[in-house]
Amino acid sequence: MKNNFNIIGQPSIQHQIIEMVEHDRLPHAILLNGKLGYGGFSVAIFIAQQLFCKEKIENKACGKCNSCLKAIKLIHPDLHLTFPTFGKSTSEDMLKDFREQISENPYLDMNLWMTGLDSGNKQGNINKNECLNISKKASLKSFEGNEKVFIIWQAEYLGKEGNRLLKLIEEPPAHCHFILISESTKLILNTILSRCQIINIPPVQEKDIYELALSKTNDDELSQELSYIANGNIQTLQQLIENGSFGQAELFLEWMGVCYLGKIPKILDWTDRFAKLSRESKKQFLDYGLYFLRELLMIKAHSKSPIRLPASDLQRAAKFAKLVSVEMVFYIIELVEESIGFVERNANDKILFFSDSLKIATQMKRL
Ligand SMILES: [Zn+2]
Repeated sequence: MKNNFNIIGQPSIQHQIIEMVEHDRLPHAILLNGKLGYGGFSVAIFIAQQLFCKEKIENKACGKCNSCLKAIKLIHPDLHLTFPTFGKSTSEDMLKDFREQISENPYLDMNLWMTGLDSGNKQGNINKNECLNISKKASLKSFEGNEKVFIIWQAEYLGKEGNRLLKLIEEPPAHCHFILISESTKLILNTILSRCQIINIPPVQEKDIYELALSKTNDDELSQELSYIANGNIQTLQQLIENGSFGQAELFLEWMGVCYLGKIPKILDWTDRFAKLSRESKKQFLDYGLYFLRELLMIKAHSKSPIRLPASDLQRAAKFAKLVSVEMVFYIIELVEESIGFVERNANDKILFFSDSLKIATQMKRL
C-alpha cells in the first residue's frame, strides 16, 4: 500500500525515535515543533507505528502488518486524532474530512485545512468538548494490545482549554502517549510546554527537496531553483509546483528593471500584469524576491559562501548587483517585507505595487 506518511529526509529524527522506543525511553508527552511543511505529522504517524507494530524488523516498524496499515490509514482504534475545528464540533465530528485531507497531503497547514472545510471566516479552535473527549478516551482501556496514541495537530489552537489536559499530560494513564504538533512554541501555553519534551523538526534538507522536485518536474535546473525557494518546506514546494508559479526570478528581475528604467508606462504595464496573478502567486513572488535580495547582498558583500541561485539567475543578479548599492538593497527588502503583510491583508495590489515601484525608482534616482 502506498504510504503518504513516509517521512522525507529527517534521518536523525527517525533514528532518535527508534532508539527511544526500543529502550523504552519515549517520553509520554512530546511536542513536535517546526513548520508543518517539514513533516511533523508524518513523524507523529511514524512514532505511532513504532508503538503499534507487531512485526518489527530490526527494531523498526514493518509498515506492512495489520497494526502498521491501520496506523497509516489513520483508522487504528488506539490512534486518536485531535485538530482544530470550528463552532461546537469536535474532532470526531470532522474526522472523515481530516483523514481525507491529511492523507492526501500530510503537509497540510491550517490555512488549507480551514479552506478545505469551507468554514467561511470562522476561527478554528480545539474546544472544551474536545478536551473532555481526550480525557475520557485516555481513561478507557485500549482496543488492541497496549499502547494508545493521542496526536494533537496544531496544538497552538488549544488556547486556555488546554489547561484541562495538564494533569493528563503530566501523569498520563499507563500506555498513553501524547504527541503534540505545533509550528511555534511561542503560541503554546507555558503550562503545557513545560510538561512536554520538545523535539524540533528541522527543515527538510535541500538535496531531498531537490529529489522530490525532480521526480515531479523532470527538469534539473528548475528543480534546483524550486529547492532553493522552498527552503526546506515541502508544502511550499507543492504549492510552487501546483500553481506553476515558479520562474519568479524572471518577473522579479523584470520589476527591478522597470524601476531602474523609471518609465511610468512600463511600470504601469508591469503592475497590470502582476495584479492579475493569484494571491498565492503574489505571495510566492514576494518570498522569492526576499530570497533573491538576500543573495544579492551576499554578492555585494563578496561573500565566500556560495550564492544559492541557479546559474541563469546568478548571471543576471551579478549584473544587477553592479547597479545598486547595499543601502538600496536593504531599502527594497524592507519594502517587500511590508508588502507581504499588505498582500496577506488583501490590499489593492495594483496601487500598492505601483506605489512601491515609484518609491524604488525614486530611491534609485531614476525619477
Ligand atoms: Zn508493522
